[in-house]
Amino acid sequence: MARCSVCGAPAIAYVPYQRRYYCPEHYAEFVEGKVERTIEKYKMIREGDRVVAAVSGGKDSATLLSTLSRLRGKLGFELYAFHIDLGIGDYSVESRKAAVELARRLRVPLVVFSLWEELGYGVPEAAVRLRRPACSVCGIFKRYLYNAVGVELGAKVATGHNADDLAAYSLKNFLFQELEAIGKLGPVQEGVPGLAATRIRPLYTVYEKESFLYTVARGLPFLHRECPHARLDSLDFKLKEMLNRLEEERPSLKLGLLSRLAKRAKDYPRPKESYARCESCGLLSSSGKCSFCRLTERLSGEPLGGWVRKRIRELFSGVTGQPSSCTWGGTSG
Ligand SMILES: [Zn+2]
Ligand SMILES: [Zn+2]
Repeated sequence: MARCSVCGAPAIAYVPYQRRYYCPEHYAEFVEGKVERTIEKYKMIREGDRVVAAVSGGKDSATLLSTLSRLRGKLGFELYAFHIDLGIGDYSVESRKAAVELARRLRVPLVVFSLWEELGYGVPEAAVRLRRPACSVCGIFKRYLYNAVGVELGAKVATGHNADDLAAYSLKNFLFQELEAIGKLGPVQEGVPGLAATRIRPLYTVYEKESFLYTVARGLPFLHRECPHARLDSLDFKLKEMLNRLEEERPSLKLGLLSRLAKRAKDYPRPKESYARCESCGLLSSSGKCSFCRLTERLSGEPLGGWVRKRIRELFSGVTGQPSSCTWGGTSG
């Protein structure tokens, strides 16, 4: 039986690019160390920062919240968790439960934004009424809400994208020559004060497999199910499979790609209208109204961006200990 390269206890994992075996405790420490070095290397978080982690209820968000919660004291930042209940049947009910249980166990203040409770429709109803694919509607809701939370709280938004996700996205964007999109896949996407929140990806160097084993090693609650709208025949999934086969032959191939991407991200073209404001809600938009305001206008009869921003301030006022009328930088607009 393989033994932990650190302490000699029975091993649960082998890390091929290190040629080391780990027991559960040392494996968890290995992943936590990786996240800490990534945060430092790319200057993701500074002392005194406020960080909101996007928590879906899946394994990557569990890894994200757990590693950040262990680092918040040492690095001196405030940490909050934000979960969007997308209203996708049982999947969303179970995801929400997992997110609530995770935040409770890690003692991180959590805010849940339920599309059904707040807007009166979930992703499936919105997609049917708009005649658009559920994943595209879902993407617009999520991007808008994460950004709004970051702007309203003056916080950085941390997402649980792992190395496998980011390597596959960058390859997909290369295939379609979406160069601006590749430029946004680095470890940090700088925001614009009052308009767009800074995005950070602390799992930039953590593989999907490592994220899964970490949650097992730390015994974290998470939902094992995939979203019912996820498709195994999608290009994203096929690119991931292909990269996995290559990675088996060449360990750390993906990490090499991402490390080069981090250096070159700034050389990719930037969107021309990167400072434009939505005429309705005042957040970042590429044309008159942002996609969230346009979408909610069709669904609810009026653009809801401005109202959602106010709701987010109210919801967070309970956990940040600040009055809801307080503006944390950039709510004018
Ligand atoms: Zn050990
Ligand atoms: Zn808007």
